[in-house]
Amino acid sequence: MRIVRESGARCRWLAAALALGVLAGCAGHGAGDGPPNLVIVLVDTVRADHLGYHGYGRETSPRIDAFAARSQAFLQHYSTSSRTEPAVASIFTGLFPRSHGVLNPLTRIDAKGILRDEHTTLAEILTASGYDCYGYVANFNVSDRFGFAQGFADYAFCESAAAPDLRQRASAVLAAARERPFFLYLHYMEPHSHYAAPAKYRSLWVDPDYRGATDGSQGQLNEIVTGRRTLAAADLAQLEAYYDQEIRYVDDEFAMLLDEIEARGLHGRTIVVFVADHGEEFLDHGSALHGYTLYEEQLHVPLVIHDPRRRDARRIEATSRHVDLLPTLLDLLGLPRPALCQGQSLVPLLDERPAAPGEVAVLAEGSLRAAKTVRLQSLAAGGWKVIRNVLPAATVELYHLAEDPAERNDLAAREPQVTQRMLARLDEVLAGLPAAEGKTTALSDDEIRRLRSLGYVR
Ligand SMILES: [Zn+2]
Repeated sequence: MRIVRESGARCRWLAAALALGVLAGCAGHGAGDGPPNLVIVLVDTVRADHLGYHGYGRETSPRIDAFAARSQAFLQHYSTSSRTEPAVASIFTGLFPRSHGVLNPLTRIDAKGILRDEHTTLAEILTASGYDCYGYVANFNVSDRFGFAQGFADYAFCESAAAPDLRQRASAVLAAARERPFFLYLHYMEPHSHYAAPAKYRSLWVDPDYRGATDGSQGQLNEIVTGRRTLAAADLAQLEAYYDQEIRYVDDEFAMLLDEIEARGLHGRTIVVFVADHGEEFLDHGSALHGYTLYEEQLHVPLVIHDPRRRDARRIEATSRHVDLLPTLLDLLGLPRPALCQGQSLVPLLDERPAAPGEVAVLAEGSLRAAKTVRLQSLAAGGWKVIRNVLPAATVELYHLAEDPAERNDLAAREPQVTQRMLARLDEVLAGLPAAEGKTTALSDDEIRRLRSLGYVR
C-alpha cells in the first residue's frame, strides 16, 4: 500500500510542480526530482523582537539572521495562543484553539487537554503521501502523552540535555535519508524558562558588577507573575540578558543543524522552516513569562520559510498566523489541504501576488491555571486589537496597534463604539469556528511535578 501511496504522491507533486513552474528552479546542489523534504525547527518562547533580523540591538541570532536573509521571512507572524500546546496544535492542524480544543481545564490540575485522534495533522497527511515523519520535542507539553505524535513514525520527548539530544536525533534522520522524502519536526526548549544557558554563553550581555539576586530561576519568575517580587531596572536587564543568552545558544544549535543538512547534500531538496510557538514578557505589561496575557510580546513570533526551489529572498510585511502554516506547507509540497482548515496558504505572498481577499484577523485564545488562573481571547484586525479577559476578572481592553504597537494606552473607555464593534467581530469569528469537544487525560503525580518545574502548575 505504501508504494501505491508514494507513487501517487510523487505524481501529484510533479503535476503541481509543473503547474507552478517550480521545476525550472530545481537545479541547485543536491536537488532531486522527488518531493522535497521538510524540516520544521520550532524554538519555544522566542519573541520576534529579540532577534537580529527583527531589529534587536544585541547579536542574539547571527545564524538565524543569515538564514532569514536568504529565505522568506514573515515579519508580522502571530501565534494563536500564548501557550505551547494550543500554538503547536494550530501549526499541526491549521485550526484555531476553539476548533482543535487543546485548551486546558481550569478547574483541576490533575488533567490536561489533548489533541484528539479525530484531528488530521500535518504528519498524518505527509505519512499518507509517502513521507517518513519524525518528531523530537524537548517540551513535555507536546509529548506523545498528549496526542502530538499522531502521524509520526518516530516521536520522542527529549528531556535531559535537550538541544544536543535533539541534534543527535536529527543527525540520525539526516544520515538515513535516501530517496523517500522525510518530515522532521524539532522542538527546542531554549529559551523557555528557567533561563540557564550553558556556561560559555553566561558572560554575554550581563553586567559583571551586578550584585542583585535575579537569577532566572522558575521560582523567581513565578514570583514576578504573582506580584511577590519586583524588579529594579538592573534586575530586569540581567533577566533579559539570561533569556538572550539562551537564544544565542539555540542560534548555534540551529547553525549546526543547517550545516549538517548542507554537509549531507540535502539542502537543495529540503524545505526548512524556523518558527516559535509564542513569546515571553519582560515587564512589558508589568509581568513575566507567558500564557497569562495575549499582548504582542506574547503573540508576535518569528516565521522563516526556506524553500531551495525559490531563489528569491523576501521580507514579507503581510500578516500571517500559525493556522496558515499547514496550508502553506501543503501548497509548497503540492499536496491538498484537509477539508477542515482555518488558515490560508501564504504561497501567493511568496510570489508577491495578493493573498486571498479579505482582511486577515488575528485571533488568539488562552487559558492557564498556574501562578494565576486566566482565560482570555483577543482579536486584531483593521489596526485595532481587542482583548477580552474572562478570568480572573471580566474586563475588556482596546488598543490601536498602528499608533500604539506596545499596547500602552487602553482605549476601551474612550472608544466604546470601536470596542463594541471589535467585541462583536470577536464573537462573530469565534461563532464561525466549529467548537471541538475538549478531551483531557489524567496526570500522574510525576507529570504534575514535571509541569510545575516548567511553571505550568501552581
Ligand atoms: Zn512554548
